[in-house]
Amino acid sequence: MAAHQEKKPSEERKHKSTQNDTQTSQVQWGRAWEVDWFSLASILFLLMFAPLIVYYFIMSCDQYQCSLIDPLIDLLTGNKHLSDIWNKTPTLTYRAASIYTLWVAFQMFLYLFIPDFCHKFIPGYVGGVQEGAVTPAGVVNKYEINGLQAWIITHVLWFANAYYFHWFSPTIIFDNWIPLLWCANVLGYAVSTFAMIKSYFFPTNAEDCKFTGNFFYDYMMGIEFNPRIGKWFDFKLFFNGRPGIVAWTLINLSYAAKQQELYGQVTNSMILVNVLQGIYVLDFFWNEAWYLKTIDICHDHFGWYLGWGDCVWLPYLYTLQGLYLVYHPVQLCTANAIGILMLGLIGYYVFRMTNHQKDLFRRTNGNCKIWGKKPEYIECSYMSVDGTKYYSKLMTSGFWGWARHFNYTGDLMGSLAYCLTCGFEHILPYFYIVYMTILLTHRCIRDEHRCFSKYGKDWKRYTAAVPYRLIPGIF
Ligand code: NDP
Repeated sequence: MAAHQEKKPSEERKHKSTQNDTQTSQVQWGRAWEVDWFSLASILFLLMFAPLIVYYFIMSCDQYQCSLIDPLIDLLTGNKHLSDIWNKTPTLTYRAASIYTLWVAFQMFLYLFIPDFCHKFIPGYVGGVQEGAVTPAGVVNKYEINGLQAWIITHVLWFANAYYFHWFSPTIIFDNWIPLLWCANVLGYAVSTFAMIKSYFFPTNAEDCKFTGNFFYDYMMGIEFNPRIGKWFDFKLFFNGRPGIVAWTLINLSYAAKQQELYGQVTNSMILVNVLQGIYVLDFFWNEAWYLKTIDICHDHFGWYLGWGDCVWLPYLYTLQGLYLVYHPVQLCTANAIGILMLGLIGYYVFRMTNHQKDLFRRTNGNCKIWGKKPEYIECSYMSVDGTKYYSKLMTSGFWGWARHFNYTGDLMGSLAYCLTCGFEHILPYFYIVYMTILLTHRCIRDEHRCFSKYGKDWKRYTAAVPYRLIPGIF
């Protein structure tokens, strides 16, 4: 653990939290308690429109060859009515419901009942029972890290089926894509609603709940920090990491299989999407223990944003490039293919190295080498709600000395590479880079706001030492 803990006598704690504004704000670190009008407006917008956005994108591929403009033209010119589009949309089917139920049940089984064995024979892999970060209430949760194993088992079965057993067609995901969308929505809404009810009646840790008093904000951003059922079923780790992210690579494989079925070949652009996104997904599972220290797990509460987002938004919108390439099979010239591959790999390298540098720095408490030298850092402190004081460090060396979120910059380079595989005929595949830019910029600002609440004046010293957020000299 990076943070060192020190109990303070209650008198001293009281003194600290009443005499100094910065210290007072430090006591309240974690998600916002008060909802400003901009946050509320954004939340209402997302609650109303995010499901429609997903539907619109998937429908436009299904009915309009992935054109985002043509449905609008049809509607505006009266060529078609909303009901025409809706009536052509595939409905929920018994087959899709069975596939989806089986899928989620299988991932739950792998998550809950197969303890990690990968860490026993893969050198360097950290799996098995691991600790998360300290929560605002001072709790340290334990997690069973077995995502890599779940991913490997699932993919071995997928390939065994495709090449040997032939129980189902590898195009099964593509062929049921819209009926599966309804199933994913049912699960997304059910789990978010359940999480909200649970936080009122049987929270896992009442001290880590945050009620803002605004129903929509609480539903969207979540009340409980780490809702669990029993000792091991952790909502955040499961929904963030399993049904959606394990599926990501299978969805892409299903798109590749569909290209093969339709055109008798798989294009190099489709292979690039499969490879680059496959690296990203595998990286996530290889580093699942590290993921426990990222914002999603350390700071976000579990509500619709994570619950519905992981079930619907992620598998449907993060895989748009592969879907697009089924309708528009792009064969890139060798120079473009190599250029995109390089951009994707360099982006991945920057993303991974930046995350690795912080992880190494925090794990060793600064006793490590970054780019061959002892890292420089700023000492900082913060307090949990029970008044326990913790010490931490903010590194100013390596990529963390270039910008405060250079890991996001690498992520954005990789995201752009996925989109470029699709050429420039349509804007739909570029949704991902636009979305990631908004997501990560917003995340940057959100994280910095939270870090300021947590570290107070120490955070200001850090931002003075590293003045840029994403691109040195620019932003
Ligand atoms: P970071 O890994 O950047 O973590 C931010 C936290 O790190 C801060 O809250 C702070 O936490 C600590 N920190 C900040 N600066 C320093 C420093 N200089 N030295 C040491 N610690 C520091 O952010 P995320 O968790 O958001 O992202 C993790 C990765 O996941 C990123 O690479 C991102 O690109 C990726 N990501 C991908 C998404 C996707 O949908 N594809 C979505 C979100 C993230 P503390 O309180 O511990 O000090």
